[in-house]
Amino acid sequence: MSTTPTSTATHAIEVRDLHKSFGDLEVLCGIDFRVAPGEVVCVIGPSGSGKSTLLRCVNRLEEPTSGQILIEGEDITDPDADVDALRSRIGMVFQSFNLFPHLSVLRNLTLAQRRVRKRSKGEAAEVARSNLERVGLSDKVDAYPAHLSGGQQQRVAIARALSMEPDMMLFDEPTSALDPELVGEVLEVMRRLADEGMTMMVVTHEMGFAREVADRVVFMDGGVVVEEGPPSEVLVAPKHERTRQFLQMVI
Ligand code: ADP
Ligand code: MG
Repeated sequence: MSTTPTSTATHAIEVRDLHKSFGDLEVLCGIDFRVAPGEVVCVIGPSGSGKSTLLRCVNRLEEPTSGQILIEGEDITDPDADVDALRSRIGMVFQSFNLFPHLSVLRNLTLAQRRVRKRSKGEAAEVARSNLERVGLSDKVDAYPAHLSGGQQQRVAIARALSMEPDMMLFDEPTSALDPELVGEVLEVMRRLADEGMTMMVVTHEMGFAREVADRVVFMDGGVVVEEGPPSEVLVAPKHERTRQFLQMVI
C-alpha cells in the first residue's frame, strides 16, 4: 500500500522535525518522515548521512535532541512513554546479526518472547518454529550461530524479530556484512515479508531491492531528507544533483 493517509493515527511511523546532535555535531537536522501501515520505505544515502541514527531514534535506542516521533499515533518522545512496550512493537535487524553465540537457534528465538512477552516455554517454541519455517530454516532449530553461514544467521535474526510479532520492522543495512553470494537469500526473505504486508523501513545499499520492493525511497544526505518518492522517480529520474551523484556511485 502506498497511499498516504491523512490522519496522524493511521501512520505506522511519523517523524516531525527531528533533530539529533552528538555534542557539537548535528547529525539529524530536521527530519520529517512518514511510513504508512503496510508500506515499505527504503532509506538510502552516503555513509554518515544519519540513516542509522534516524532508525535508532525511531525505536529509542537514541534519544532525539528535539522533535517528535509517533508510532501508530503515540508520541514516543514523551517522557512518560513506555519504551519497552514500544520496542516490542518494533522489530529491528542490524548489519551485525547480534545473535547470542552461546545459545541455540531455538533459544535465541525464545529468550525475548519468554522475558518480554511472558510466553510459556512451549508457546515460545511453537512461535519460534513457525518463524524459522518462514525464513526457510526449520532444520537449524538446534544449531548454534557459529555453525551457520552469515546469510543463515541474518535469517535467524529476522525470525527472532518476527517471533515478537511486531507491527513493523526496521532493517539497518541487513546485507552489508554478508559475502555477495549470501545477500540474495536474505533479500528474498525480506521481499516475502513485504509481500505479506509487513510495514518496513529498510536502510540499504541494495538498489535492486529498493527498485523492486520499496513503495517509496528516501534519499538522505547531511542529516536531511534531500528527496523522496516512488523508486521509479528517485532511482530512475532523481530531481536533485546530490541524489544523482550518489546513485552514480552505487549503481
Ligand atoms: P549512516 O548510518 O548514514 O552512515 P550514522 O547515523 O551512523 O550515519 O552517523 C551519522 C553521523 O553521526 C556520523 O558522522 C557519525 O560519526 C555520527 N555518530 C553516530 N553515532 C554517534 C555517537 N554515538 N556518538 C557520536 N557521533 C555519532
Ligand atoms: Mg548506518
